[in-house]
Amino acid sequence: MTDPTATDRTTPLPHVVTLGTAGGPRWWDRPDGTSRSGISTAVVVGDAVYLVDCGQGTGRQLARAGLRMDQVRGLFLTHLHSDHVVDLPSLLLFGQFERKDPALPPIAVHGPGGRGALPPVSAHATTTPRPVAPANPTPGTVDLVQQLCAAYATDINDRVFDSLTRPPSDHFDVHDIALPAGIGFNPNGEVAPEMEPFDVYRDDDVEVTATLVAHPPMAPAFAFRFDTPYGSVTVSGDTAPCANLERLAGGTDLLLHEVIDLDLIARRYTDTAMLNATMDHHRRAHTTARQAGAIAERAGARALALHHLVPADAPHASWFAACETFGGPLYVPDDLDVIPFATAPAAIAGEVLR
Ligand SMILES: [Zn+2]
Ligand SMILES: [Zn+2]
Repeated sequence: MTDPTATDRTTPLPHVVTLGTAGGPRWWDRPDGTSRSGISTAVVVGDAVYLVDCGQGTGRQLARAGLRMDQVRGLFLTHLHSDHVVDLPSLLLFGQFERKDPALPPIAVHGPGGRGALPPVSAHATTTPRPVAPANPTPGTVDLVQQLCAAYATDINDRVFDSLTRPPSDHFDVHDIALPAGIGFNPNGEVAPEMEPFDVYRDDDVEVTATLVAHPPMAPAFAFRFDTPYGSVTVSGDTAPCANLERLAGGTDLLLHEVIDLDLIARRYTDTAMLNATMDHHRRAHTTARQAGAIAERAGARALALHHLVPADAPHASWFAACETFGGPLYVPDDLDVIPFATAPAAIAGEVLR
């Protein structure tokens, strides 16, 4: 890794840009006319950009943030729920035209491998659902990208043959994240067995480590930590309160944690069966603001930012409960806010609650 003492003083401090702060498979609008894009976070270290997740609007938000595709070195997918990957086709198909330098190495893509088994049917079900794509009903990241390229082959081959562009496979180097051996992972049982963080990616500017988190029935689901010579940031992914996440985030300079307001969500359902099934899921798979604050406090995080807001049209006051359990600086960023993670945290933009 780079020697921090050799850093050019003009190098901007490492920071995150909250490209999208909404969770859930929805196009969210807020009552005040503003909206939140789908979950995606840019970790910016010097000139290098690392993306965590690519929810709805990521490509457009990257441009709005003044960041370029040819700065992007890596894309890290926490899990394969659609709200985290729905803009992947856009990055694969449009993104290559934003990469001007033919000598650039491909972007490293790291995401979950295949689940390996369908999830169990909800106890609230009255009939047995039929799976989509039964020959491969739970593809991982490599299969997802391969199948997306196959689905868009008419476009890709048109441009490869007629315009001599390069296919997405020349621009993206895709990997399924291999789980450490012997940890006891079971997609329909132990989705987040207690484990030590493990290495996923490394270059001259960052080391990226991961851990399994508890987001059942989605599995594998990961949290990522980026360590730089100047500070660290940890991104929870979607998870219920999880000891693995606390271990990964130990002493981190900034923790971005997902959050849900269960009361607001419950009020939106009129169908009792769907309410019961969905609320069961949310309680097992997500984290309240109060819980997120307690997690940050136990992990010794220096600052906490709440993102992946569900519902994303909730008022800021929905998230204030994190102040009751976390004593450090708390942010509830809007889209495109900038949060440094190198020194004593101070939001350059965005709302600081304390
Ligand atoms: Zn999500
Ligand atoms: Zn999810």
